Amino acid sequence: MLEIRKLTKTFGQGATQVTALHEVSFTIAEGEFFTLLGPSGCGKTTLLRMIAGFEQPSGGQLVLDGQDIAQLPPNRRPVNTVFQNYALFPHMTVAENVGFALGAQGRPRAEIDDTVARMLALVQLDHLAHRRSGELSGGQQQRVALARALAPKPRILLLDEPLSALDMKLRKEMQVELKRLQQETGLTFIFVTHDQEEALTMSDRIAVMSGGHIQQIATPRDLYDNPANSFVAGFIGESNLLDARCDGGKLVLAQTSDSMPVAHADGAVTVMVRPEHIVLGKAQGSALTFLATVDRLVYFGTDTHVHTRLADGSVLVARVQNALRDGVPWQSGDRIEVALPSDAIHLLPKDAA
Ligand code: ATP
Repeated sequence: MLEIRKLTKTFGQGATQVTALHEVSFTIAEGEFFTLLGPSGCGKTTLLRMIAGFEQPSGGQLVLDGQDIAQLPPNRRPVNTVFQNYALFPHMTVAENVGFALGAQGRPRAEIDDTVARMLALVQLDHLAHRRSGELSGGQQQRVALARALAPKPRILLLDEPLSALDMKLRKEMQVELKRLQQETGLTFIFVTHDQEEALTMSDRIAVMSGGHIQQIATPRDLYDNPANSFVAGFIGESNLLDARCDGGKLVLAQTSDSMPVAHADGAVTVMVRPEHIVLGKAQGSALTFLATVDRLVYFGTDTHVHTRLADGSVLVARVQNALRDGVPWQSGDRIEVALPSDAIHLLPKDAA
């Protein structure tokens, strides 16, 4: 439905020039919940603003339904944006806010009233239609902003960190709500966030960005299970990264010199292991086992994070589920066996230093 081809954006000139996006390419399917995820400054807002038409590309194409829309002004693109700060008209009622764009298009009164009623039912705000939007809570204002953006029936809804102004509890509720809205309407959503948990819980696919590049595009599950590189491994969930070498069919850990057979080209690699996959104590069938010292225990309710220190000083964190009554049987200073099961070991390209 939407094809982004080699989209580039530079700001400024000469010595102060910043390249916010470097030839970014990807395709979004109709009805997808697609998320742009990355740390501050990675270029996700710039990319969204170019799709909306608020920013002109320095190069590349934006093709929607087979038509290059890069030169169309924002109001002629079949897309609409929900902003972080809602941008409602505070003196207008909820219903007036939601019907505003339709009124500006000169639609008949009856059609506007009908659409406003349907949109307010969709976001469960029918009872507040005549309240001024400036008198609503943050969560209610967010729903009005959503209803207003959906009212003109855009082909794509763009959402720029729409939940970041809400407190944690409301934010979680709105995550579920947004996903429901997207599924009920069947609309294509492009969602921008720097919050990996938010991205994982809502998206069909996620594009992980850093430094103006896309690092990987995949389903939440695939990003977590098969990160393409150590940036993605570190940004999605928690991970342990260890230096290692592949040498003549063997993987050798730099920190412990332990080794296991491996089918991989010779050279330096990074070994990635998720904390919940590490086994502490003796384990059958583990590929790599070595001794480490318990450094500290951090209690998280459902589980405990056990920080272990290897001989060279590097730290490996294991996550152990808490049993019903007993705590973990180790304490700081204990020497324990750390086991990495073979299917928990992922080899990533070694980062350029
Ligand atoms: P955040 O989460 O902080 O909003 P982001 O990932 O959305 O970050 P962008 O706002 O897209 O990042 O910015 C990407 C890069 O482009 C940054 O280095 C930023 O400083 C730069 N940039 C963005 N807008 C402009 C502008 N109008 N003029 C100059 N540089 C800009």
